[in-house]
Amino acid sequence: METILYLAHTEADGSLGKPALEALSAAKSLGGTLVAGLIGENVSAAANQIASCGATKFLGVAGADFGPSRYATDAAAAEALAKTAGTTIIIAAGTMRFSRCLAGVAQRLGGRADTHVTNVSADGGKVTISRWYYRQRMEAAIQRTTRPWVILIDPGSQPAWTGAAGSATLETLAVTVPETARRTTVTGFRAPAADAQTIRPDAELLFVTGAGWTKKQADGQTHVPEAEKLIRDFLGLARASLGSSKSLVDLGGEGQAVLGFLSHLNQVGQTGSTPRHPKGLSTCCHGEEPHTVGWRFINERRAISLDPNCGWARGKADVLYVADAFVVIRKVNETLAVGKA
Ligand SMILES: Cc1cc2nc3c(=O)[nH]c(=O)nc-3n(C[C@H](O)[C@H](O)[C@H](O)COP(=O)(O)OP(=O)(O)OC[C@H]3O[C@@H](n4cnc5c(N)ncnc54)[C@H](O)[C@@H]3O)c2cc1C
Repeated sequence: METILYLAHTEADGSLGKPALEALSAAKSLGGTLVAGLIGENVSAAANQIASCGATKFLGVAGADFGPSRYATDAAAAEALAKTAGTTIIIAAGTMRFSRCLAGVAQRLGGRADTHVTNVSADGGKVTISRWYYRQRMEAAIQRTTRPWVILIDPGSQPAWTGAAGSATLETLAVTVPETARRTTVTGFRAPAADAQTIRPDAELLFVTGAGWTKKQADGQTHVPEAEKLIRDFLGLARASLGSSKSLVDLGGEGQAVLGFLSHLNQVGQTGSTPRHPKGLSTCCHGEEPHTVGWRFINERRAISLDPNCGWARGKADVLYVADAFVVIRKVNETLAVGKA
């Protein structure tokens, strides 16, 4: 039977974030002996948060050195936790912090690491992971004999663990931090203002804008400033995440009028991203295959297009509204604004 180390780092407030709770669901789904290993400035609140998760032990590496995300100290902490737990499998969230250091930890332990894992299962005691390749077109099922095996779970791919908080008995490990491991210091975070941040992985809805927003409309004119306002208002009211077709984000490079808040980071599709949101609403986009391939993980899909023969009408969407998106989104915004008032 495998001994599973569930590895998590705390957030700035000392709690475990959603990606960490998703990784815990994955770790629990394997059965086996579960040990929790926590890293952070102070990990007792995090241990109490998951006190009822069924872990046989709660190990922690804590202190000011382990508060910030830093390769040297995170790797030392994870290595100590893995060795103390006598672990064969390590499950952790594929956060920026762990993605940076856990491959190195696998190397130190003489093990292997797999990243971007979207599922784990244990049939007949054999652990299998799933991972997508070639722009999410092929899914591989992978087994390994090498142990320890470090598995980084893609955030957004699992249900977050829920359970009662309690009072966990925490065993704190002493990890010596040499001066050379403190050379990197985190001086702070820089993040865009909340309303400038249009990519929101946790949003319920993906709102996709297509090139139609910048095209000539029925009156023979373009209406880019109005499109900008409608889209911005919708994003603010619905707290949706903003995706785009390639054509629209490319227009900027061609010197055409574009929506100022879009960049290639918003592009969804074959050469863009493959976001995971429960719902998606496409507007002014034709729904061609290179774009809709990026909708693979969107469960409920709707589209608004003037063209009744667009790609969305050909099996790409659950519902297609053949309508003018300017009119529809204006009306939707009015309705949402009344609801918020
Ligand atoms: C190798 C390769 C990789 C690619 N990768 C990607 C990718 O990653 N992502 C991607 O998106 N594309 C990708 N593409 C491009 C893709 O094939 C399409 O060209 C692109 O998605 C089209 O964008 P669009 O639908 O926004 O624009 P258009 O094709 O111009 O469609 C605009 C749509 O808006 C509608 N419209 C106009 N006005 C309104 C209105 N008022 N209300 C409602 N509807 C309106 C029109 O009817 C039309 O259907 C790739 C192509 C290639 C060859």
